[in-house]
Amino acid sequence: MLSENLRDVEKRIEEACKRSNRDPKEVTLIAVSKTKPVEMLQEVYDAGARNFGENKVQEIMDKYDHLPQDIHWHMIGHLQRNKVKYIVDKVQMIHSVDSLRLAETIDKEAKKKNVTVPILIEVNVAEEDSKFGLSLEEVTALAEEISKLSNVRVCGLMTVAPFVEDPEENREVFRSLKKLSVDIAAKNINNVTMSVLSMGMTNDFEVAVEEGATMVRVGTAIFGARDYSRKD
Ligand SMILES: *Cc1c(COP(=O)(O)O)cnc(C)c1O
Repeated sequence: MLSENLRDVEKRIEEACKRSNRDPKEVTLIAVSKTKPVEMLQEVYDAGARNFGENKVQEIMDKYDHLPQDIHWHMIGHLQRNKVKYIVDKVQMIHSVDSLRLAETIDKEAKKKNVTVPILIEVNVAEEDSKFGLSLEEVTALAEEISKLSNVRVCGLMTVAPFVEDPEENREVFRSLKKLSVDIAAKNINNVTMSVLSMGMTNDFEVAVEEGATMVRVGTAIFGARDYSRKD
């Protein structure tokens, strides 16, 4: 049952909070529903989830009209500039901003729709070739540039940690991202806050919570394994 999976993940988040003296209310669970049908999202919604994560614009658009309107949609995947216009007024937050050009496009489309879009800067902490995101050194400069845009708000940082067998191996990655967010917050950049740290997935979300995650993005532990062969 998906509701039991959801409860189990929530319980594990609570326990990780206890271990690290954190208030579970500080941690938002994003149910990552990519490749999953709307019926499964509805089931998880009925069990109480309100935050859903998708990594494709098309999938958000396909699902959006078939599910309750109080869902908070999170764009967590690589975003092409020509697709920004379709989701800019539909998503709660864009987690995957990794260039000024993308932020400028979001700003431009947000202005047209008269909205302000909360965004996170994606950081490739481990500097893996296969991943999107900035290196730790590049983030502050980008935050400063984006802060000049009127309809985009930098709210924090996001990372996709390496795939590892033992989640402890990612503790240092999460710690580095937390430290960077503290350093940037101390600079008091206009229009920039570091209130959100989006880190931790099925394999390592407990370690991420212990290291300060305020959003965890969990797919497999809630919805089960994804079957990409059946897609489309
Ligand atoms: C798919 C995905 C997740 C969820 O991954 P699981 O291992 O299934 O929990 C989290 N974040 C991003 C950016 C993803 O693409």
